[in-house]
Amino acid sequence: MQTLENVLRKWEPVIGLEIHTELTTLETKMFCGCKLEFGAEPNTNTCPVCLGLPGALPVPNKAAIESIVLAGLATNCEIEKDTMFYRKNYMYPDMAKNFQTTQGPLAFCMRGHLDLEIDGKGADERYGIDDVKVGESFENITRCEGGYVAHVGITRIHMEEDAGKMVHIGGSEGRIAGATHSLVDYNRAGTPLMELVTEPDLRTPEEARRFMQKLRQIYLTLGISNCSMEEGSMRCDGNISLRRRGTHELGTKTELKNLNSFKSLHDGLMYEILRQADVLDEGGVIYQETRHWDPSAKRTIVMRVKETADDYRLFPEPDLAPYHLSDEFIERVRAKLPELPDEMAARIKDAYGLSAYDASHLVEHRATASLFDAAASLIPDDASASQRALVAKQLANFIINDVTAWLNAEPDVDLASSPLTPERLFELSMLLVDETISSKQAKEVFTAIIDEDKDPREIVAERGMEQVSDAGAIEAVIDSILAENPDKVDQYRGGKTGLIGFFVGQCMKAMQGQGNPKLINEMLEKKLSE
Ligand code: ADP
Ligand code: ZN
Ligand code: MG
Repeated sequence: MQTLENVLRKWEPVIGLEIHTELTTLETKMFCGCKLEFGAEPNTNTCPVCLGLPGALPVPNKAAIESIVLAGLATNCEIEKDTMFYRKNYMYPDMAKNFQTTQGPLAFCMRGHLDLEIDGKGADERYGIDDVKVGESFENITRCEGGYVAHVGITRIHMEEDAGKMVHIGGSEGRIAGATHSLVDYNRAGTPLMELVTEPDLRTPEEARRFMQKLRQIYLTLGISNCSMEEGSMRCDGNISLRRRGTHELGTKTELKNLNSFKSLHDGLMYEILRQADVLDEGGVIYQETRHWDPSAKRTIVMRVKETADDYRLFPEPDLAPYHLSDEFIERVRAKLPELPDEMAARIKDAYGLSAYDASHLVEHRATASLFDAAASLIPDDASASQRALVAKQLANFIINDVTAWLNAEPDVDLASSPLTPERLFELSMLLVDETISSKQAKEVFTAIIDEDKDPREIVAERGMEQVSDAGAIEAVIDSILAENPDKVDQYRGGKTGLIGFFVGQCMKAMQGQGNPKLINEMLEKKLSE
């Protein structure tokens, strides 16, 4: 396969996502009163409606419609007041009714968007980004410090219902290939399901991953789903095509399934970009097909050739009246909107003088966002603006680097009930800001808080960690180090100022890492230029 860089010079990837989310936090199914419950005994939460028995009549779940309107408002959609439900026919045993109740051309939520902040290495996937100056716009992006912001259109979010679950017996890895027979569990059939469809506005796998992350974060904040990619309550299909750079017509797309983690979403799309480029460069054609991402083999394989819209014979559901949302209902839902991640980022950026980069990373996960909020609220009201900014920056550093690394290593940790309380994180930051301990020691204290479930001050006292900021003590150490290394002192004074690192290192070593590095640095520079 070619390198991405080579491919991007010639081809432009075009990506659109379809994201299904089950409203797991509701009590009951979409059109009947059956209980929503993950992992219940198979076929215990069923009734004539979700089994599609003759004569059973559906009734829409109002709480589900409230949830989807909430989702629409949180993603900048227009709320469509008059919509209808439709039947999408398909013959497959996981839906006993032989059709899925869904929405037609008009969905509850239409024409929304999300703005994605892409930075770090992820920004390099966007072709031509280096040629755009900070503050300038280009296609659907605006360049900013360290990356860019991409504006991505949301076509619609519609309400539908989930199908049941097939369990294939006898084949490998539970797949249908090679199975001797299949079982079906209708507990999931009729689960309220939202489908969000994006415009084909995404250009890189990183943007796709970030979209999914951001959406998940919003839904979690709204409390409308547990958004588990692992359990399948949030699922993403990736549509992707290539077109010759500089042209505008869309190429033929493939649709990727089984993108059940952020990594799979990114890696599956990346693979498909390279695969399609190889096919096209060899003069081949891309077939419109559904492909399955295999994360262990690291490739996509054909599942089926795409059915056309006609196969579904979509028609208005005769058992449900057209649905009207009153202004009053919409306003009542709007009043329930909590502070969204973007709003929180703007608030903490202003309140604590944080950079946009820090603020957007802090709100990336709900748990870390709340930790920051709670810890930062402990900064005394009478602190000066600069003191405030200093402590907040320190808190942000801990959360973005140390806490994130810890949670990545131990994903099962529940931050809210962990030993790392907001009070302890605040105290640790204060110890660092007032230079009681060095940043190296702070890392040690951080680990000890988690391992030993103790307060930072206790740890510092036990380990005799107090940093030495006594100028007299430091000066004595500096004098002896300089006396031991006259040749290096001469070299420094002769212009090799890079040697400062050597001197600082020696002083720190002599003080068992407890010297105040800032003070050592300042005093050394002064002494060496005497
Ligand atoms: P389908 O009829 O196959 O479901 P849709 O037009 O409904 O296709 O689009 C499904 C998703 O695929 C949307 O997210 C859309 O933005 C995206 N999409 C549509 N055409 C293309 C294309 N040529 N390349 C990449 N993505 C596309
Ligand atoms: Zn039911
Ligand atoms: Mg479609």
